[in-house]
Amino acid sequence: APTIMWFRDDLRLADNPALYDAASRGPVVCLYVHDPAFPLGGAEKWWLHGALSVLDHDLRAQGGQLCIMAGDTHESISWLAGQVGAVSVVWNRRYGPHARQVDAQVKAALKARGIDAHSHPGNMLHEPWQVRTRQGTPFRVFTPWWRAVQAKGAPLPPLPAPDRPVFAVVPSVAGGRLVTPAALGLLPEHPDWAQGLRAQWQPGEGAAHARLDAFIAEQVHGYATQRELPARPATSGLSPYLRFGHVSPRQVWHAVDAAGKGDRDTACFLSEVGWRDFAHATLFDFPDMGTRNLRPEYDHMPWRHDPAALRAWQMGKTGYPIIDAGMRELWRTGWMHNRVRMVVASFLTKHLLLDWRVGAAWFADTLVDADAASNPFNWQWVAGCGLDAAPYFRIFNPVSQGEKFDPAGDYVRKWVPEIAHLPDKYIHAPWKAGPDAPRGYPAPIVDLAGGRARALAAWKTL
Ligand code: FAD
Repeated sequence: APTIMWFRDDLRLADNPALYDAASRGPVVCLYVHDPAFPLGGAEKWWLHGALSVLDHDLRAQGGQLCIMAGDTHESISWLAGQVGAVSVVWNRRYGPHARQVDAQVKAALKARGIDAHSHPGNMLHEPWQVRTRQGTPFRVFTPWWRAVQAKGAPLPPLPAPDRPVFAVVPSVAGGRLVTPAALGLLPEHPDWAQGLRAQWQPGEGAAHARLDAFIAEQVHGYATQRELPARPATSGLSPYLRFGHVSPRQVWHAVDAAGKGDRDTACFLSEVGWRDFAHATLFDFPDMGTRNLRPEYDHMPWRHDPAALRAWQMGKTGYPIIDAGMRELWRTGWMHNRVRMVVASFLTKHLLLDWRVGAAWFADTLVDADAASNPFNWQWVAGCGLDAAPYFRIFNPVSQGEKFDPAGDYVRKWVPEIAHLPDKYIHAPWKAGPDAPRGYPAPIVDLAGGRARALAAWKTL
């Protein structure tokens, strides 16, 4: 009798503990449920379309298929379990509050019908409850948490893909409710804004490993120093692949660790992968992190309401080149360099004094790597309201950040071509260029000194 492998944020065959378990139990039915109760951003939808198509293709190459259903999670799984006569359903865990609630309901309902339901650890280096302080409480600060992680030794070695799995035949009556990725309506139509995403990304497990291999061969050496420079392709670009689980953090950890042998670049990269785990662990322990300030005193922050400023920020028309370059890179490619993410987030929450949740919502709609943990975690970190946050009074100056991290202006010239002709000395402050100041480019929407003073005054009211 078959086992249903319920795919979610783990769209891969190798190092997939649930799939491995399913294949060892007997014939497998592979399922993905697209449930409107789990809303996705536009860029994530675009990615998911490609991800499901590739996974179906990869399964068919082995004689299987991906059964895709649209609708309520609980109802869909129960229905398919009945149709195929499943004796068990397995999956890899998720850590967001809504996802955990749904998974617990599905588990209870299946068990009540005598169907075994089993969850596996597949999406983190370590499960959140495996890394605790001596008192057994959650860590609130990254560095001691990371020390505790390292003291545990290497994470479990990755599992291979199941060897010649047997796939159950899905009865044709079930076929009537199965849909293709195209039928989910995930792709943009008019306008088709995904051109830049198509040019930059290829979803799927094969592409994830190609990127990981290329990173190890070409970029990990020098990562610690180059990773802050947005003009360089110095980071791995693995974030959307980790987000959709085309590659697991354990696979990344072991591949990079084996290649780097403990040098500074490797250690720096592995700690970044650690930040991903820390963000997920924080979401697990503080389930309303996505919507509520982790530091409640920020509930009284006098955020402004300013739709015009928000729009200028979203569209990359603030008049500050490093901000506009980052926001345009995001809009065009679904991704933004980490240093620039920090600078644009600081600008929104400090110089513009807009609520971090407004910025996080825009990121959630436009990032291909948007996830329920890393996105709010990092926004709260920049905005000062996170547990282990940068202090609010640390306000990035977009001009000096640009000069420091994009000294030759290459990044700005790529994304803000209307100022590309300016000499380096004006590239991060075009309004200083006098008669050479470009006409089509906006004047700064906020005065840096004034915005900074306003932000500090607001913060002092807390
Ligand atoms: P690399 O430098 O190659 O790092 C390797 C991996 O480590 C990344 O793929 C990612 O999984 C993880 N990682 C690195 N930095 C962080 C971090 N600060 N927090 C959590 N994980 C990290 N990352 C997301 O994956 N999803 C998000 O929604 C997201 N939102 C962010 C919002 C803001 C305001 C900021 C400042 C950062 C955000 N990040 C987010 C973190 C970081 O910017 C991206 O993970 C990184 O830029 C991805 O590029 P990369 O894969 O080349 O990173």
